[in-house]
Amino acid sequence: MKKIAIVSTFVTLLLTLVGCGPQVPAEGDILIVGGTLYDGSEAPSYKADVVISGEKVVYVGAADPDIQKKCKATKIIDAEGYVVSPGFIDPHDHLEPTLLKQHANESYLRMGVTTVIPGMCGGSRYPLSDFFAKLEDQGIGTNVASFTGHNTIREQVMGDEARYATPEEVEKMKELVRQEMLDGSLGLSTGLFYVPGCFSETSEVVALMTEMGKMGGIYTTHVRNENKFNIGLVNSIREALEIGKAAGVPVNISHIKCLGRSEWYKADSVINLIESYQQQGMKVTADQYPYLASGIGMASALTPAWCRDGGTKAMRERFKDPEQLARIKAEIPDILYERGGAETIYISKNAGEYSQMTLAEAAAKMKKNPVDAIIELLKDKSKSPYLNTFIANEEDLTKYMQQPWVMSCTDGSFGSHPRAAGTYAELIKQFVVEKGVLTLDRFIRRSTGQVAETYGLKNRGFIRKGYFADITIFKPEEVTPHATYAEPTLFATGFKNVIVNGQVAVEDDVYTGSLSGMVLRHEVKK
Ligand SMILES: [Zn+2]
Repeated sequence: MKKIAIVSTFVTLLLTLVGCGPQVPAEGDILIVGGTLYDGSEAPSYKADVVISGEKVVYVGAADPDIQKKCKATKIIDAEGYVVSPGFIDPHDHLEPTLLKQHANESYLRMGVTTVIPGMCGGSRYPLSDFFAKLEDQGIGTNVASFTGHNTIREQVMGDEARYATPEEVEKMKELVRQEMLDGSLGLSTGLFYVPGCFSETSEVVALMTEMGKMGGIYTTHVRNENKFNIGLVNSIREALEIGKAAGVPVNISHIKCLGRSEWYKADSVINLIESYQQQGMKVTADQYPYLASGIGMASALTPAWCRDGGTKAMRERFKDPEQLARIKAEIPDILYERGGAETIYISKNAGEYSQMTLAEAAAKMKKNPVDAIIELLKDKSKSPYLNTFIANEEDLTKYMQQPWVMSCTDGSFGSHPRAAGTYAELIKQFVVEKGVLTLDRFIRRSTGQVAETYGLKNRGFIRKGYFADITIFKPEEVTPHATYAEPTLFATGFKNVIVNGQVAVEDDVYTGSLSGMVLRHEVKK
């Protein structure tokens, strides 16, 4: 017996040495048989078997007709004819309230997503350690990592104040940034368009990013303006790149787009600008959602920035002053035009009887013109209207999508825009299968391994031995998005299996009840 064992070990060793692949384990929890494997890298796909044991992938090898004889598994998934991909990683969303209420994060699981990253556009839960503890306590369907928001940190130190920070305040903010990084934040996000980030000067952001950079973080930014207002789109992108350069940190442009009719067809200018910094050796990436409409609060979208100084209460006070109100009303038509006009602006929620209609319809119902209707809705303390505004055009969207440094993202918060339930299904159906804007290889790479590499998610984003078993199995032609602007919460279909840390979370479009997601904490560089 001993002799046989030694011989067989020798043969296995020999086979391994001559390139016959890794040894098939004798048993496992899940065996995925004969699927077409895209491993998350740029390597070509091939037919493969995958064995999962516990939370990890323990074997990946070329499809073997005898695999089921060699490996006894508790569960067998026949993936013949299916794509086997790493679970999608959404690098940009606003899911904090969703995750705290709907632990499963089902709309994401149901479109193949296994990891989400909130804390974006300058806003995060503070302190992150509490948020993470709550998620771990209650259980989560997907994995969650998070950024820390600059606006959140600024509010902790100086509230909503419409002024530059003093050197002492910057020092205090740096301290908070350090603590958030120690507690596992991936980096710092800014929302320089929003209150109070819009009141900060570039040097404040550089100081905070430099501090964050020492701890290995990444800068991701909703730039100062994606539209023609303030310093305009191209200068806002330039500011983000200059901040990254001065602080010596990688920069990610959040939800890259050309917002509003005046900025349309500027994708080439933005791409050239970004590439010029990449050529200098800077790491610059972007993420993008595949929709022409954005999701945004009515005040942020449709009023001039100065009228929001000091927050919502201050804005409502200004409405009471006839002189200021006249000025606000005079500035709104231009903003309305940029955002597509009252006929296309859709009020998706939080507006009572005016929810789920266009601004033009709401105005008609009130018997007011659209400008007066906006003021009326914003005055009402019981309402906080949320909008979908058609601000992008297809040509820019397609150009950005085809850049090798642009990743897929949702920018989602559940219930306000179809992207939180449809993004990845929309990308597969519309942009891979129907329009061919992306190849399937490229779609998978920009939705998995590329995100893990950009944000330093260890042992995620690839299907490799020793990596966490986050896996999505589907047939591209079966994947269908169902969420629309009118019904943004309808789940996608066409996903055979979604596996999170080795547990099956979705099987044939049914959520299994599994809460196997983990909090993913960034480890600070020592
Ligand atoms: Zn944003």
